[in-house]
Amino acid sequence: MSYLVLARKWRPKTFSEVVGQDHVVKALQNSLINDSAHQAFLFTGTRGVGKTSLARILTKALNCENLVDGEPCNECDSCLSINNNSSIDFQEIDAASRRGISETKELLETIPYMPSSSKFKVYLIDEVHMLTKESFNSLLKTLEEPPPHVIFMFATTEFSQIPATILSRCLQLNLNSVTTEDLRKQLSLIYSKEKVKCEDSALTLISDAANGSIRDALTISEKIISFSERNITSSVVREVLGIPDDELIQGILKNLKDKNSEELFKILDEINNDSSIKSIFINLMELIKNISLTQFSNIKKDSFDPSLLEIDPGTLQIFYQLCLVNIEYIDDFPDPKGLLEMTLLKMLAFDFEEKKNLIFDEMPNEFDWPRLLNELKLSKVFSQHLMQSNAFINQKDFILSLPQEKKVLINDKNIKDLELKLRSMLSIKDLKVIVNTNYDVLDSPMNIKEENQKKNNEIIEEKISSSKSYKKLVSELNPKIKKFDNS
Ligand SMILES: [Zn+2]
Repeated sequence: MSYLVLARKWRPKTFSEVVGQDHVVKALQNSLINDSAHQAFLFTGTRGVGKTSLARILTKALNCENLVDGEPCNECDSCLSINNNSSIDFQEIDAASRRGISETKELLETIPYMPSSSKFKVYLIDEVHMLTKESFNSLLKTLEEPPPHVIFMFATTEFSQIPATILSRCLQLNLNSVTTEDLRKQLSLIYSKEKVKCEDSALTLISDAANGSIRDALTISEKIISFSERNITSSVVREVLGIPDDELIQGILKNLKDKNSEELFKILDEINNDSSIKSIFINLMELIKNISLTQFSNIKKDSFDPSLLEIDPGTLQIFYQLCLVNIEYIDDFPDPKGLLEMTLLKMLAFDFEEKKNLIFDEMPNEFDWPRLLNELKLSKVFSQHLMQSNAFINQKDFILSLPQEKKVLINDKNIKDLELKLRSMLSIKDLKVIVNTNYDVLDSPMNIKEENQKKNNEIIEEKISSSKSYKKLVSELNPKIKKFDNS
């Protein structure tokens, strides 16, 4: 048998094999069982969550000769021809490479012809948002009155770029980012079938790194399996993915707390991989956030050295903001490690007494919807919708205001998910989300908040850079850092 990459080999072939999209699967199977006649489907969601896989399964189900409970059989001629890419009644088009009007016209010219051996002719257009305006217009004419033997399926990562006229003619199916827990389960199933051993902690690291994408989870796995000789440990995963050790991150913070510059730079000396610097920033921010959350809510999110809880909350906030300001430059900075060193020096220089001189929002005491939204870790598509929303809390009611066109895109599951996360995040047991359309663009829109936050962070950074203690540190320590210091 020829070698297949994991992501292809484990591509789901039935609805029941699809991971983490129960709501979409259920909707599709119900529509199949009830024979409801949709002729255009739009699958939206971030990359690698299974949009085109689902479209293929749906195509099989629509044409299958032995459909049982809305599942394709994978045995009839029609199913087999789609599985081995030989069906002439199923066309998969990548709009990124065929976006022009002449290509679209060419495609549309084939529409009047009846399918050769199936019930339906299916056109799957991936990355459909890439089509030109002219292409969309000519497609729209067909979508308005499609011949009964034709079905369109569109997939996109950028649904906000799809014209409303097209949207209104499609059954829209929003795929979620796959949860870390679902990824873990699926990977552990696949590993056991592939006879790959994997430590539990390594499984968590891989699932986290996949960032909600099942395809990324398998691509990462592929790389790690070959590197580890089928025995995956967390140290191998850290090495391959450049994920810093928990101890290293905690060590940095601990030495910042103790103002032990010598030990701090000893730790930094051990870092010799520039590609891991961004992860160090991210993990440090994650740790700071977890400590802050524990200080405020007593919910311990992760295991960390309890002495870190002694760090003053205001200081933690400054640390977080310094990371936030500097991580923005990391992709373009010629010396990422220098940037990290400089940031840590500022943290080291930051003296609690000086806090009085710094002006900043006392965030944790104030209800801040953009920040809360960011921390809720909702599905990407849902979060994207909520970027255009206002929210406030009235005792146990969480009032969410959206423009009408956004409100219709949000389903009950989204709301339930939001409700559960808010309850735990805000520690309000019977919090209820109430949605209305009283959306006001002028009322604290996200972008203004972000701008303010950014300005605020820059002020803090500037103040620390010009503080006496920072200048003293720079002059005493590690002369190579001086070259990054503009003050
Ligand atoms: Zn079949």
